[in-house]
Amino acid sequence: MVAELMIQVSDITQYFYCPRKIYFLRVLGVSVPSKPKMEMAKEEHEKEHQRVVERKEIYGFPREEVKEVLHSVAIEASEYHLYGVIDTVLILTSGEIIPVDIKYSRFEEKKRNWTKQLVAYSLLLESKMKVKVTRAALFFPESKKRIIIEISSEDKKALLKDIDTIMSIIINEVLPNVSKDKKCSYCEMNRFCTL
Ligand code: SF4
Repeated sequence: MVAELMIQVSDITQYFYCPRKIYFLRVLGVSVPSKPKMEMAKEEHEKEHQRVVERKEIYGFPREEVKEVLHSVAIEASEYHLYGVIDTVLILTSGEIIPVDIKYSRFEEKKRNWTKQLVAYSLLLESKMKVKVTRAALFFPESKKRIIIEISSEDKKALLKDIDTIMSIIINEVLPNVSKDKKCSYCEMNRFCTL
């Protein structure tokens, strides 16, 4: 493995959307222009950070259980070849640390790529804060729905293998074999991707 190669948490979510996206983004260096919808979500996101301080519940946790709320926590964990910016981290009065990812999606359910993203955040937080992270949360502002994701040691070990696989695609410049499906019509790589 190339020692200095690092991957971002967003590479993991892209990989679990479709492994081919890693080839386009990290091997060919295709950049993804932001869509108006993404810009709107960014603005809404900033407002959501402000609104949370006025609520009785903080991302679904009773206010009295939350000691601190951190936003945009940048962490690099060279031991995992991983870095990323965690949108929100809750420090509970119990001492528990919970990464939260806020999703602006009409699909309010647990998705594999989102779960992997939260496992990656857990690894980063463990590396920086030296505490074990066993829970994470998805939060959907429109409905105020919160989904708790339990994170096990096996999930973290599996993620380390995923990181190895992603690094191998980048280092060996491999175009992964996949089948086209309906998600291709939402994919920014569709116009480059021939199957
Ligand atoms: S167009 Fe489809 S197969 Fe190609 S990268 Fe996107 S999701 Fe994957």
